[in-house]
Amino acid sequence: MLPFKLIYSNGYYLPIGAHVFPAEKYRRIHERLLKQNVADANDFLTPSPATDQDILLVHRPEYVNKLKTGTLSPSEEMALEVPFSPELVQAFWLAAGGSILAAQHALKDRVAFNIGGGFHHAFPDHGEGFCMIHDVAVAIRRLQRDGKIRTAMTVDCDVHHGNGTAAIFAGTRTVSEPLPSVSAATLGRTMPGKMRGVHAGDVFTISLHQHNNYPMTKPPSSIDVDLPDGVGDDDYLAWLGDALSSGLRQFEPDLICYIAGADPYREDQLGGLALTLDGLKRRDELVFRIARAKDIPVMVTYAGGYARNVEDTVTIHCNTVIAAKETFAPAGSPSKN
Ligand SMILES: [Zn+2]
Repeated sequence: MLPFKLIYSNGYYLPIGAHVFPAEKYRRIHERLLKQNVADANDFLTPSPATDQDILLVHRPEYVNKLKTGTLSPSEEMALEVPFSPELVQAFWLAAGGSILAAQHALKDRVAFNIGGGFHHAFPDHGEGFCMIHDVAVAIRRLQRDGKIRTAMTVDCDVHHGNGTAAIFAGTRTVSEPLPSVSAATLGRTMPGKMRGVHAGDVFTISLHQHNNYPMTKPPSSIDVDLPDGVGDDDYLAWLGDALSSGLRQFEPDLICYIAGADPYREDQLGGLALTLDGLKRRDELVFRIARAKDIPVMVTYAGGYARNVEDTVTIHCNTVIAAKETFAPAGSPSKN
């Protein structure tokens, strides 16, 4: 039995037909976690869909109304890049409910997973890049409304910039502390990435992403790490470590929302970074170790993953659960299954 909960429903399947987004990945992750005894059936909780009231904490009434009545314009549907259907709307409401439940359980158990979600390209008034509803933002706003948290930090390690997250939590900006370009040399990094920083209001947003990739326009996060093409494990981990320590020097979140995209993987069809399976697991461990050391609860969502072989995407996402299991194992218990 895991020392934390995994939120999952068969309803996470996105009915989008043949598509680069492997909509069946959620079911396969669930299956693999059980088959390999990483988790047992009691570790899983089934979410309820978010209420419209929850969705409206982030999204504009006009947009929500269009989704519920199937009246998106052709250009709005095109920006979404997945075919609209009422069933798709249900799947996104359910993913948002899953992220709310995961955030609630993270506060109890220090970590919790939504085996789905991470739809970081959704904006208050439109969806794009396969993302209709910003489940992570909905979860943060719901927990704030319930008085469960005051502040949160998003740590977005999907290969694509978290443009929706940045836009939603823009808040009042002030220029943050200068970010350490010098440490690139100290850490022996050969490929300079670029860190840009602004400080937001009650939610601090960190995005580590490939600069030359979707989305074209990247509204500023609190910290953006614009990585050049082809960054590998060691450089990536060094930049992530810098971004986390810089962020946590500036801001004390009540909750970390870790967006654990599988697409920085070197075999990804929509990514241009070069992380290995092992590097991606070390990435997860780094986030969990820091959160544990600072005693900040972590809620995990999965976001993208488009490996040529879908089994690799499943492996990366399952490894995130294994990394949490190893990091958050109660003292004295065997750390590996
Ligand atoms: Zn992505």
